[in-house]
Amino acid sequence: MLFGYPPTATQNNWFHECLIQAIKEVHARVDAQQLYPPWPQILPAAYQATLRSRRGLRDRIQAYDVALRQLVSQSQRAAVLAAVTDQNRIAELLANNCNCAALSALPAAIHAAVVSLFDFAFELLTDLNIRDDQFKTIYDEVPDHICPFCGTEYFEAPGAPREALDHYLAKSLYPFAAANLKNLVPMGHKCNSNYKLATDLLYDDSGTRRVAFYPYNHGKIGVVLDCSDPFNGSTPEKPNWQIDFDPYTPAVLTWDTVFHIQERYKRDHLDEGYKAWLWEFRNWARRSGQRGDTDANLVYALTTFEQICSENGMRDKWFLKAAVFRMLRLHCENGHQRLKQFLHDLLDPSTAAVTVP
Ligand SMILES: [Zn+2]
Repeated sequence: MLFGYPPTATQNNWFHECLIQAIKEVHARVDAQQLYPPWPQILPAAYQATLRSRRGLRDRIQAYDVALRQLVSQSQRAAVLAAVTDQNRIAELLANNCNCAALSALPAAIHAAVVSLFDFAFELLTDLNIRDDQFKTIYDEVPDHICPFCGTEYFEAPGAPREALDHYLAKSLYPFAAANLKNLVPMGHKCNSNYKLATDLLYDDSGTRRVAFYPYNHGKIGVVLDCSDPFNGSTPEKPNWQIDFDPYTPAVLTWDTVFHIQERYKRDHLDEGYKAWLWEFRNWARRSGQRGDTDANLVYALTTFEQICSENGMRDKWFLKAAVFRMLRLHCENGHQRLKQFLHDLLDPSTAAVTVP
């Protein structure tokens, strides 16, 4: 992703923590052969009053207790309990510093109860306002209210129909993290529904363990187009894009693979936007008296426009435009004759019509 979310967005995680404590209490009672207590005593005392009326939660925690008691082997129950903890070590899992058992590796007798409980718990985050609070914290701090997974989708303001909230570690695989804010990330609709889906971030298609960004703790990733050929792309006049990322880390590969970033940038934004961006450059240059009559003037115009693009941040794909004009400027500085001639003609006020790709 292009930038991280503020860690403060995960602080109001009381419901997840309460639920995990309750599950651990169920395990302790089953292991000690104690009876299940009257509701809501299975919950930590601090949250009993708040959650007493949540009968759906009551029924599902009790169903979990019933299912767990079907596991007569203590080692089976211990494997489930380990997964409760390990599936929630989100940052460590994503950094490949630890592993966890997926649901499919746990005894089948517990599956339905786990899925039912944690699906319900996730839905409760909306009722408890935790989901909206998290989104508002993120919305207020995210530059230009842009989806950081692609940089091209806008988030709508709090109060609008809710944005997708992605289970970063898919809940079908790692259900014990389904209500953990550290595993829940607002995401643009396209990123969520067309690309990420229920992809397992921890393993690639060949089953090899991989690393991925932890959304609540990582820095910025830049898009670099410097090595693109300014011509000979999808048409002879369009650049042959080479998209690089700075810094390039193993997590970038996972991000690009899962969200199809290079493919989307080339197809949907760079090829699509190039012509309009050249016209923007031309119109700006003519309005502001920039001349492309000499190589030095051309490079100066490109440098200035690149700077304007950079200053506009993430909105309206300005970060991609900045990378485009940086690439064009570098090629001009390096003496690319065909490109210089094309841009000279583009900026020349006496040229009535220049064919722009
Ligand atoms: Zn997106």
